Amino acid sequence: MGDHVIVGEANVSRVKQQKRVLIAGGGVAAVEIVMGLNALAPRLVDVELVSPDPDFTYRPLAVAEPFGLGEMTRFDLGKIAADHSAHHRYGALASVEPDEHAVVLADGRRLEYDLLAIAIGARPVDPFPGALTFGSAEQRRELSQLLEELGREGARTLVFAVPPGVVWALPLYELALLTAAFAARRGVEDMSLALVTPEDAPLGVFGRQASEGVRSLLENRGIEIHTGLYPVEARPGGLVVSPEGSVPADRVITLPRLVGPEIPGLPADGAGFLPVDRHCRVERQEDVYAAGDCTNIPVKQGGLAAQQADVVAHAIAADAGADVEVPEYRPVLRGLLLTGGSPRYLRAEITGGRGEASELDVEPLWWPPGKISGRWLGAYFATLAAAEPPPHGIAVEIDDLGQLLG
Ligand SMILES: Cc1cc2nc3c(=O)[nH]c(=O)nc-3n(C[C@H](O)[C@H](O)[C@H](O)COP(=O)(O)OP(=O)(O)OC[C@H]3O[C@@H](n4cnc5c(N)ncnc54)[C@H](O)[C@@H]3O)c2cc1C
Repeated sequence: MGDHVIVGEANVSRVKQQKRVLIAGGGVAAVEIVMGLNALAPRLVDVELVSPDPDFTYRPLAVAEPFGLGEMTRFDLGKIAADHSAHHRYGALASVEPDEHAVVLADGRRLEYDLLAIAIGARPVDPFPGALTFGSAEQRRELSQLLEELGREGARTLVFAVPPGVVWALPLYELALLTAAFAARRGVEDMSLALVTPEDAPLGVFGRQASEGVRSLLENRGIEIHTGLYPVEARPGGLVVSPEGSVPADRVITLPRLVGPEIPGLPADGAGFLPVDRHCRVERQEDVYAAGDCTNIPVKQGGLAAQQADVVAHAIAADAGADVEVPEYRPVLRGLLLTGGSPRYLRAEITGGRGEASELDVEPLWWPPGKISGRWLGAYFATLAAAEPPPHGIAVEIDDLGQLLG
């Protein structure tokens, strides 16, 4: 939307109208963009958030659920939007008409925009046959059931297998460590736990120092580590791996592989993800940005989604006329690893897909020290969580949910 002209008494004054900013999505990236725009360009933008879900779901705590240590927390998107001078509209993005500056929703409605941000996440799929893929409510219940049966009629040899192509494997390491702690608390004996991964070192994306710390943590808990192996199929008695052989297993637990949204009207890479440049602009598009798991960044992680979102917020604020400099996306990976004892804070700057300046500590390496670190959303969710404690606390590791959310 350009300037428009008001013809007054003697003067002709030019009044800048607000830019209509449409944000598709309601997860980490979308919410961080909303908060960023409210901070950077408060009167210059009219922001609408479009998503099919009424809530923002804080997913990292899903790993605590099967162990009865916490649960995924939901926050009302309407309130989040209203708290940041934006509106929430129910709807699912179906396609984009970039030349018309319009999107079409799944129910056929058409919305026009001046600036568009896509933050609709990725779609999880089972990565290989025969395993329990961790993610949905039903899969979390299945894992709870498996844990309840441990050491009785249930499985005694559990293998946690990182699938090929999944670079953010931290939740699976948490599941392995939390299972070891759970079994120890219950006094389950004759159990064996193993972790199989294509990585050349445990959580190698965090760099050498952090990875060595994670290796000794796993070893101290009696979790066998097999690196450089690609899971192919879970069969009765074992996990078939590539390049050859199998690892004994009664049950195999894995993470989903993520598939891109492939949005009609916008470009996509071979796996359906939106290709973005260093300013998170969708390649070859005018006025279209993207952030988070729906983009082609190699590590699909909440903290990185928030960092991309910050770049998008700056870029849109600048396009709307705010006096801000647009930073480049320079990923810093921060991971809070739940262990069943003291959590570990991992941090690395990522260059060429690998972690540099690698750190691991039992003390927070960032503040607020949440599972998802975000410039604006961290503090906001920590405050909300402190105001409305959920029904179940995080009993074993941290009894202040705000700390995990923040
Ligand atoms: C078990 C688990 C543990 C994790 N642990 C961590 C952790 O410890 N730290 C960390 O940083 N990250 C963690 N992550 C990863 C993190 O949750 C994701 O990387 C992050 O949520 C990605 O944010 P996003 O906004 O891109 O996508 P999402 O959070 O997936 O949000 C996508 C949003 O888009 C909406 N949407 C979907 N389709 C449409 C559509 N067509 N139109 C409009 N809206 C749509 C959805 O309803 C949703 O609101 C974990 C993930 C899982 C599953």
